[in-house]
Amino acid sequence: GTSLKPLVAILDPYHPDATAKLEANNEIDSLVVSKSNRQEIYDRAQAIMVRSDTAISPVELSKFSQLKYVVKQGVGVDNIDLEAAKQAGIEVYNTPGLNAEAVAELALSLALCLARRITEIDRSIREGKAVVRSQTLGRSLFGKTLGVIGMGNIGIVLAKKWIGAMEGTVVGYDPHYQGDSWSEILGAHRFRQVDQLNNLLQVADVVSLHVPLTDSTKGLIARDEFTQMKQDAILLNCARGGIVDEEALLEALESNKLVGAGLDAMEIEPPTREAYGSLLKHPNVIITPHIGASTREIQSLSGVFVADLVVDLVMG
Ligand code: NAD
Repeated sequence: GTSLKPLVAILDPYHPDATAKLEANNEIDSLVVSKSNRQEIYDRAQAIMVRSDTAISPVELSKFSQLKYVVKQGVGVDNIDLEAAKQAGIEVYNTPGLNAEAVAELALSLALCLARRITEIDRSIREGKAVVRSQTLGRSLFGKTLGVIGMGNIGIVLAKKWIGAMEGTVVGYDPHYQGDSWSEILGAHRFRQVDQLNNLLQVADVVSLHVPLTDSTKGLIARDEFTQMKQDAILLNCARGGIVDEEALLEALESNKLVGAGLDAMEIEPPTREAYGSLLKHPNVIITPHIGASTREIQSLSGVFVADLVVDLVMG
C-alpha cells in the first residue's frame, strides 16, 4: 500500500550502523536500492544517500519526482552535478572534515611505506627472493619537508601529523583558502605558505595532494610539475584521479625522478592490474582503491552522521 511517510533511499553502500539507525526510525521509510525497488525510489524518495559510487548526473536527477535532498558521505562532490541539482531545487550536502584524520593517516602510511620500501620488500619475501639489506636502503623522513597542495581539512591534519611525527617542516599551497591562519595552527617556524606551486615543488621531499577535482585542478601535476620537483621526491595522491596526469607520472617513474608514488585516487576506479599494468611494473608505486576514509570508525561515524542529517532534513 502507499505510505505517507517520507522515503529515504540509500544508493551506495553505507555502514550497517547507518542503515540500522534509519530502519529503527518509525517516522520515515528507508530503502537500500536494489533492482526491484528502483522505480519506487524514483517515484517516492525525498532524500538520497550516496557516496562516490553513484554518478548523480542531470539525467539521473530528472528521474526522481519527489527529490529534495542529496546527501553525500564524504567530501568530494565531483560525482554530483551541482548545477543540475540547483536548477531542480535540490539541496546537496556532504560531510566536510569527518574523514580528515583517516585520509591523513593513509597519506602518512603511504609516505612511510614508500620511504622504507615496505610493500616492495614484503613482496620480495613472499616471492621467495632474498632481500639484501645493504642493497635495499630506504629513506628517512625525519626532519624532511612535506609539501601540501590544498590546505583544507585533510591538508591541515596531515601537516600536523607530519610536524608531530616527523619533526619536519611543511610548505603549503592553497591560493583559495579562507580559514584560520595556518601559521597559528601549525607554528610559524614549522610552516611556510607559498603563492606559487613551483616554490612548493622545488623544496618538498614529499608532495601530497589534498585539493578537490575541479576544472582548475585537473592535470595540476603534469610534466612541467614533475620537472620542477626535487630528485627523489615522493608523490602522494589521496585526493582524486585526474589531478595527476598519469602519463607524466609514468615518465617520472621511468626516469627515476621519484622515490615512489602513493595513489589512492586514479582516473580509472576501481583500479585494476589491466588498467595500471605499466604503473604497477614499478615496485615503488602503491595503488589503493580509494580507501582514504575506509576505517571502521569513520564509516560508522560518518554514516550515522548522514543518517541523522537526512532524518532532520526530511522531517523538517
Ligand atoms: P577541503 O575543502 O577542506 O580542502 C580542500 C582545499 O583545497 C581548500 O582549502 C581549497 O581552498 C583548496 N584548493 C582548491 N583548489 C585549489 C587549487 N587549485 N590549488 C590549491 N588549493 C586548492 O577538503 P578536504 O576535506 O581537505 O578534502 C580534499 C579532497 O580530498 C576532497 O575534495 C576529495 O576529493 C578528496 N578526498 C579523498 C578521499 C579518499 O578516500 N581518498 C577522502 C576524502 C576526501
